Amino acid sequence: MARRAFPVGLRPRWRLALPLLLLSTPGRAVARDERCTKAPLRIEAATDNDLIHACEAWRRVEGFLVVQRGLRMTAPLDLIFAERVELDLGATTLRVLGRYERSRRILRVTSAQADWLREPDRLMFRQPIDAEMHTSLIVHELAHALLLDNFRVAEPGRVCSEYMAYVVQLATMQPATLMRVLAQYPEDDFASLAEITEIAHLMDPHGFGIRAYRHFMREGHATILDDILGGKVGTDLPM
Ligand SMILES: [Zn+2]
Repeated sequence: MARRAFPVGLRPRWRLALPLLLLSTPGRAVARDERCTKAPLRIEAATDNDLIHACEAWRRVEGFLVVQRGLRMTAPLDLIFAERVELDLGATTLRVLGRYERSRRILRVTSAQADWLREPDRLMFRQPIDAEMHTSLIVHELAHALLLDNFRVAEPGRVCSEYMAYVVQLATMQPATLMRVLAQYPEDDFASLAEITEIAHLMDPHGFGIRAYRHFMREGHATILDDILGGKVGTDLPM
């Protein structure tokens, strides 16, 4: 699969930002891409690619959820890239792609430079995690964080957030990549809201995401998003 150094659309600005970015120190907070200066994010990037992916991801989330659908982030959040991101499960820890600490408003995402992302079985939507997939991962995680600021119920089911995070991730994906992803999943979408459950998500998270995207595109956008924000979908397990 062809690897893309950075997403289409960033190239002209990338050239402008290059001298500034080259002055940054890897592993420390680095200079922001100019398109990120108004984003409600404090970005601590492990590499310049992380920063580029983060800015592009915010641009996509802002366009889809803020500009087009009126959601808003209530306060800035920290977006921190690290070689290793873990979920503390008490007796053990689980290495994950990303996690959001809601109370501290800290979103941690695995850096694009982590070799772990390139292990043969580390696939996303049955695709290797290249620059575009890494960007879409950040989109997914940022969407979660933004949705949590906009739910109208205190404890919406986890599946509400997952449904919409996958929708934003896929709807804003580069078209060629999205076509490759969808071709991997010929299955139908959800027939009704009743099928959108936490069990379906746990059994096959990425398959769930594809079905959510197709369902969202088929049904009226405004109605579904309103149901999601109202916590009406798939409340079978607590968030
Ligand atoms: Zn998720």
